[in-house]
Amino acid sequence: MKHSETLFQAASQHIPGGVNSPVRAFRGVGGTPVFMRRAQGPYLYDEDYQRYVDYVCSWGPMILGHAHPEVVEAVQQAAAHGLSFGAPTEAETRMAQQIKVHFPSMELLRMVSSGTEATMSALRLARGYTGRNKIIKFQGNYHGHVDALLVKAGSGALTLGNPTSPGVPEAVVADTITLSYNDLDAVKQAFAEYGEEIAAVILEPVAGNMNMVPADAAFLQGLRDLCTRNGSVLIFDEVMSGFRVHLGGAQARYGITPDLTCLGKVVGGGMPVGAFGGRREIMEHLSPLGGVYQAGTLAGNPVAMAAGLKTLEVLSRPGTFEALEATTRVLADGFRERAERAGIPLQVTHMGSMLGLFFTEDGPVRTYQQVVDSNTARYGRFFHGMLENGVYLAPAAFEASFVSTAHDDDVVELTLDMAARVMQNLG
Ligand code: PLP
Repeated sequence: MKHSETLFQAASQHIPGGVNSPVRAFRGVGGTPVFMRRAQGPYLYDEDYQRYVDYVCSWGPMILGHAHPEVVEAVQQAAAHGLSFGAPTEAETRMAQQIKVHFPSMELLRMVSSGTEATMSALRLARGYTGRNKIIKFQGNYHGHVDALLVKAGSGALTLGNPTSPGVPEAVVADTITLSYNDLDAVKQAFAEYGEEIAAVILEPVAGNMNMVPADAAFLQGLRDLCTRNGSVLIFDEVMSGFRVHLGGAQARYGITPDLTCLGKVVGGGMPVGAFGGRREIMEHLSPLGGVYQAGTLAGNPVAMAAGLKTLEVLSRPGTFEALEATTRVLADGFRERAERAGIPLQVTHMGSMLGLFFTEDGPVRTYQQVVDSNTARYGRFFHGMLENGVYLAPAAFEASFVSTAHDDDVVELTLDMAARVMQNLG
């Protein structure tokens, strides 16, 4: 038995499902999760001394690759000065300034410790600011495990208050309207019906939780116009797309400005960090300036700030993001070409350093239904084939892949060689 399997059995005695976050459990692709012992650059090393090229990148944050020497040094230095003060530090101001260089729409912003906290807080703020309760979200968009956002819609139709998870009271999601992604008519209809009551529209402007599906520019612009006209708050959840699809996120890429933005993942460089911010007028409703309460014992933690600040500094160096994007394009074109050669129908999406693989003939992929209808069983076989050949893709068909600056030409070539080999016998 592999050591990983022994460790998984032991973990399962103490931790529900043996994991501290469900998608790590390989339920979507079958088999047992691989336990990792260390990571360096583009590679993960498991407990059985296997090496993998990593396209999960800790689900997005590790944009410079693992254990980047400058980030590690910054963390070590910060840790030596104390792990947490529970009092303000200069690093928090520098972090706010650094974020605003890339996200000028975040006139005021606050640091939190996860993406979930960021979306939860943004939602409360939008409701407090507007004095309204209803919110619109989109099927296939994930905003963390916030009660009010854990709602699944039925077949793209407008659905009110349908909790996905036991434990979420119906009353908590009674004001959550779930609509189809990229379907502006459905949003217009919802505004026609509930306009005066809608506090916020929240979405992933480039969705990374139904694999990777970019929003149509006209859809985003339509949402912007509807929110402005109806006095509703437009929230871009850029926890995944922030610094990934563009240094300034989807809002810079599309040139469409939300009222509030949520960040996470890359902004913490691998440490537990999130942020939310936006228009000054809205943010001033937050405690202690205004009445909307929001807080965090470890918010703005000095070690986490050091990791995030150094990551953003390195990523912002001239040419770095462009090179990352070019690598991702080579990879996307390569996957497409290898699939064609093997006669396997594959749709590939990519933007910045995010990438989506869909085993389907039905392209371009724009909707959640197309994602659900793709051949997820084939993705599972592809995943395991790649894993056996030393490439670690997301262990679920509904997750995007991520590229880091440590993924060089050799790593990409190796990945594509393995993809060609696996696709030959994919079935
Ligand atoms: N929003 C988006 C778009 C995400 O992808 C995620 C996590 O994957 C979250 C929010 C929640 O972030 P966290 O897991 O840090 O709570």
